Amino acid sequence: MKEVILCKYGEIVLKGNNRNQFESLLLKELKRRASDLGRFDIRYMQSTVYIEPADDEAEMNFDEMYARCGKVFGLVGVCRAVACEKTLDAILETAKAYLPEKLDGVKTFRCEAKRSDKRFPLGSPELAAEVGGAVLSVMPHLKVDLKNPEVTVRIEVRDQAAYIHAGQDAGAGGMPVGSAGRGLLLLSGGIDSPVAGWMMMKRGMTIDALHFESFPYTSEAARDKVFQLAEEIAEYGGRIRVHVISLTHIQEVLRDTCEEDYFTLLLRRFMMRLAGMCAKENHCEVLVTGESLGQVASQTLKAMCVTEAASELPIFRPCIGMDKDEIIRISRRIGTFETSILPYEDCCTVFTPRHPRTQPELDKVEAQEALVDVDALVAEAWETRYRHNVG
Ligand code: ATP
Ligand code: MG
Repeated sequence: MKEVILCKYGEIVLKGNNRNQFESLLLKELKRRASDLGRFDIRYMQSTVYIEPADDEAEMNFDEMYARCGKVFGLVGVCRAVACEKTLDAILETAKAYLPEKLDGVKTFRCEAKRSDKRFPLGSPELAAEVGGAVLSVMPHLKVDLKNPEVTVRIEVRDQAAYIHAGQDAGAGGMPVGSAGRGLLLLSGGIDSPVAGWMMMKRGMTIDALHFESFPYTSEAARDKVFQLAEEIAEYGGRIRVHVISLTHIQEVLRDTCEEDYFTLLLRRFMMRLAGMCAKENHCEVLVTGESLGQVASQTLKAMCVTEAASELPIFRPCIGMDKDEIIRISRRIGTFETSILPYEDCCTVFTPRHPRTQPELDKVEAQEALVDVDALVAEAWETRYRHNVG
């Protein structure tokens, strides 16, 4: 019996005339992920992507492909199914042969049928009942539970064939990567910024990442941790270019020249300027950060306004309204949490003020800034940039 993977669309189904642009991006992404796993035939029809072995001899890693499908944005569900001819006999025989292994260890089930081919002679409830009977004939210990079954067996009579499967896994949701422009993610080694990047990728954004280091105050291990985090979110959206810029000299000059209470804010404004340049060079249209309102001194409303005033580009902050524990929950789910909590320093924690300003006034910040040569410092830091690709 030949198994196939059925991938169910999410929000793409709401699209009108431009729907096939989204479908092509989705298909392209699935093909890219399949490329090192063997020869698959991948195509879409009726709001579903079908992934099957290209031919009977094709060597492939089907399990890995299935796992990867669960991380592709644009899909709300994935399932392994078996295809058969669209006759009642074929459906019942296939169900009896295919389902025992899938229902091993299960006590309760129900069947649901759906016909997109309405020419099929049996109605959906009748078909479901027939398959239920066939399942019970080979696994009499099972019980039917219509309300709260352990497994729902589904029979889908589609245009080309009938498909039978025993349960669907949740997909990653969102929109296909590449459908919503390119943004520059300011990626620290913390918990929030990888989540912020993932959230924007989920909505279809292609991400470049920018990390600021402050060697020797920050270590190589801290930077490698950031590359690792980028690698982890790249699993959802393909290659990520990680740009790295050194802030060491800027931080030393700020420390030696400006009022301590303003260090973090001044530094963050330098980050925005450099991020703007990096975005421009790499065709990114917005900046993305992991900021969350009120989380730390530099994330009060006033502090964020002062920071944003130094940015020419819009700043997207997808975590802005989330509590830390909500961000952590996503971080665990997407697999970045364990890396994020590795104990390395970040440039923001170097020379941290003892009493950071939480209600800063822009003119006071600008007055502090006037004590240093902003343009020269930016130009010099810009020259330290280098790039590391992941994914
Ligand atoms: P995170 O958990 O993402 O590090 P945080 O709660 O520690 O966030 P901050 O350190 O104030 O908060 O940083 C706020 C945001 O600024 C981060 O989410 C990130 O987008 C950006 N940022 C902070 N430090 C760096 C850095 N070293 N390189 C690049 N971006 C940074
Ligand atoms: Mg941080």
